[in-house]
Amino acid sequence: MTDMNTTPKANRYTIGLFGKRNSGKSSLINAITGQNIAVTSEIPGTTTDPVYKAMELLPFGPVMLIDTAGLDDVGELGKLRTEKTYEVLRKCNLALVVVDIHIGITEFETEFIKQLKRRRIPCICVINKSDRDISEDLKTISTDDIPAVHVSAVTGFGIEKLKNVIVENSNFEDVEPALVSDLICPGDLLVLVTPIDKSAPKGRLILPQQQTIRDIIEKDAIALVTKEQKLKHVLGGLKIPPAMVITDSQAFKKVASDTPTEIPMTSFSILFARQKGDLAEMVRGIQQIKRLASGDKVLIVEGCTHQCQADDIGKVKIPGWIRGIAGDDIQFDFVSGAHFMEDLSEYALIVHCGGCMLNRREMLYRVEKAREQGVYITNYGVLIAYVMGILKRAIKPFPEASAVLEESNKNNEKEE
Ligand code: SF4
Repeated sequence: MTDMNTTPKANRYTIGLFGKRNSGKSSLINAITGQNIAVTSEIPGTTTDPVYKAMELLPFGPVMLIDTAGLDDVGELGKLRTEKTYEVLRKCNLALVVVDIHIGITEFETEFIKQLKRRRIPCICVINKSDRDISEDLKTISTDDIPAVHVSAVTGFGIEKLKNVIVENSNFEDVEPALVSDLICPGDLLVLVTPIDKSAPKGRLILPQQQTIRDIIEKDAIALVTKEQKLKHVLGGLKIPPAMVITDSQAFKKVASDTPTEIPMTSFSILFARQKGDLAEMVRGIQQIKRLASGDKVLIVEGCTHQCQADDIGKVKIPGWIRGIAGDDIQFDFVSGAHFMEDLSEYALIVHCGGCMLNRREMLYRVEKAREQGVYITNYGVLIAYVMGILKRAIKPFPEASAVLEESNKNNEKEE
């Protein structure tokens, strides 16, 4: 398979197309990809749910284009569609604001562009239907300081130029940092521990495990994969100790006790917390667990609706651990998938999954939303390591997060 087919959605540079209904967003996405994938028609409001299209944008690499419903959609359904469009905005690395040349830029687009700037999302104004009547170009198009490109999605005019402008205005570094390859050298051996119990999906490894293996072999290092019951045996048989042991969080305790302390050890979930978002903030967030008081509410968030690992990790195990530390009358709410509520103020703590199906922009948005509202946020891997009493060890490979933990421990000592 080509890289284009295998790069997961969350790891692709994400480009959203936004604009009013009937500005030609769907035709434009077809023209850019050279395929007829988005439903188009002259009737405003044809695109309802966001439509995703993966493509290879040379010389740039794998990108994900997202076609959205018109931002000016009306009625109750329209409101729902617009909300979905705004959910897309949260994960965009770049936005194309599509404008019909016959209408020009209105207050509406100007406001939207301001919002993009506030969210620090780079954008390009695409002036569509420019072939129809170029004299119509006399209509004032004011795009301030953002690049503007005239195109015709119908004739293909300007499409190549638009692709070049997209490449010029994109920061590929914005995608996400490495999972583990920046911590290791070619030739290093890493031991990965993946429990195969009844909660593991049949016939395959889960995405965080697959991606970690891929990252390791791409670095020309070696991944040795085993179950937790075999770890001791595997480590005992190695001539040189591995550069790192990476485990599923659920096997943390056994893996920590079977791995000699001089071998760095962490979890898939902690690697994802670092790659997708802000590990240091997650470590800061875990300190809140000790401060939870009777009646406090905790929000448990999973980034997708399919089951992650043990079916009860988010719904049963984590609430159980938290209640064990903070008391039986802690309340829990659960949310999963693309939805993440705007108002988080009723929560004393948010516990997020590893977020492997979300992209970094989306995860950072969630962390920022929590921070803005003064709500602490942590993640499954950090919480499990904390509960097992091995957080310090599990984040040792990450100096920034370790510094946060040290600082928090000092503050706690002062408070006591
Ligand atoms: S997004 Fe979260 S819940 Fe879904 S598979 Fe990834 S870690 Fe598990």
